[in-house]
Order: sequence, then C-alpha cells, then structure tokens
Amino acid sequence: MAPLRISFLIRSVYGFLPSNANLVRWGKKEDPTCPLCQCKQTTEHVLSSCKIALSHGRYTWRHNRDLQELAAIISSAKGETTLPKTNALIFKTERGAKS
Ligand SMILES: [Zn+2]
Repeated sequence: MAPLRISFLIRSVYGFLPSNANLVRWGKKEDPTCPLCQCKQTTEHVLSSCKIALSHGRYTWRHNRDLQELAAIISSAKGETTLPKTNALIFKTERGAKS
C-alpha cells in the first residue's frame, strides 16, 4: 500500500484528518462547520455522516471509485489488460475546484 494511503488510513481511524473541527482545534481555521450542511465537520462527518453529501451520492461515488480501483488491481494481477469503465461524477470542492 502506498505511504500516502497508509497515512490517510491511520489519520482517519484516529480522527486526525484536516476536518474543519480539527483545523479549528489546531488554530488553522475559525469556523468548524461543514460547508455543505453547516453541522460541525468532524472526520466522521466527512467520511460517513454528512446528510447533504449522502443525498448528492458522494459516498456511493467514492465507494464505487474504490471498487473500480480494486478491480483494476485484480485485473492487472491476473494479467488482464481490459480495465473496467468508470462513471465519472464531478463534484465542486469547497474552493470551487472540481474533483
Ligand atoms: Zn455536512
């Protein structure tokens, strides 16, 4: 597993991702609210609890993207060259950029 993924996994398990609540705690930001729903934005909120993100299909999109990556890894390990098609969804980030 890539070092950045391991880092993300560890920080997500222990609640040390840069959520707005953590950024306020670390003195980097003044507003701990979620830009989508105005609830306190904790790590848990970002990863699984935001009702607006859920209604926009963001969790399903992220889940499906991860499964597609796993399928590609399995296909590659089996020596297959055909990768599964992706259904790209574009979401606007807090800063207006698209992800
Ligand atoms: Zn939210």
